[in-house]
Amino acid sequence: MSRQHLQSSLTGSPMTSAEAGRGLDYRPMAMMPDVVVLKIGGQSILDRGRAAVHPILDELRAVKDKKKLLVCTGGGTRARHIYAMASELSMPTGVLAALGGYVPRQNARMVQMLLANDGGIYIMHDDFEKLPLYFRLGCIPVMTGMPPFGYWEKPSHESRIPAHRTDAGVFLSAEVLGARRALFIKDEDGLYDDDPKKNPSAKLIPRIGAKELLKRDLPDLAVERVVIEYLARARFCKELQIVNGLVPGNVQRAILGEDVGSIIHAD
Ligand code: ADP
Ligand code: MG
Repeated sequence: MSRQHLQSSLTGSPMTSAEAGRGLDYRPMAMMPDVVVLKIGGQSILDRGRAAVHPILDELRAVKDKKKLLVCTGGGTRARHIYAMASELSMPTGVLAALGGYVPRQNARMVQMLLANDGGIYIMHDDFEKLPLYFRLGCIPVMTGMPPFGYWEKPSHESRIPAHRTDAGVFLSAEVLGARRALFIKDEDGLYDDDPKKNPSAKLIPRIGAKELLKRDLPDLAVERVVIEYLARARFCKELQIVNGLVPGNVQRAILGEDVGSIIHAD
């Protein structure tokens, strides 16, 4: 009897050439396009404590039966402290990413407990496949915004700080689930042409394309730079929305699809 050979379009390919995979009929599906993937900022919101956090959670409760929410958390000041401390102790970037990852997980656990009565449920990265069940049960899944790269964090150009932190994790989650937008709840009215905390005359940019934004080479961005860079390659998540969660009503309006705050779009 002859042996059975597996034949497929990539058989025999080292998959290292620029052409590898190009000829495939690749039409990815949007798995859960109606999920609203959102991040509650670490430094911008969670570190401010109950005055900032509780009203936002109330807004999530108010819309949770209208929209499927995937709530992700940022790290904030405690993550910054471990990045500073560990890099002073000569830890490589991958170690910083692993250590920094514990903090947004702590935050996710607290947010889950605060939402427990309303269906808050803590999930891990591997639990994406359980999302349909959780949404059917009326749950609000809560997870860390940090992507699971950890020790395998990619080397970045200049900085020792991991380039993929919780903004990146939230964007990548939206992309794999097939959501059109990733929502970032922070503490300023949106994206400005300079950090509004340092420059009081900074101007709000309500809408801008990602390439245009990178070309403007602003002194600082409100979200991790890699996210703006990846936006151009996104198949699904073509918009980032930055809203001020300290303004009552903003979070609900954004979740319901209003263009409140700033929109950075794939251009
Ligand atoms: P988070 O905790 O949600 O990750 P960060 O504190 O890391 O939020 O980032 C949000 C902060 O970024 C804002 O509070 C603002 O001070 C700062 N920032 C820097 N550059 C900009 C900009 N161009 N537009 C808006 N905010 C900016
Ligand atoms: Mg941040």
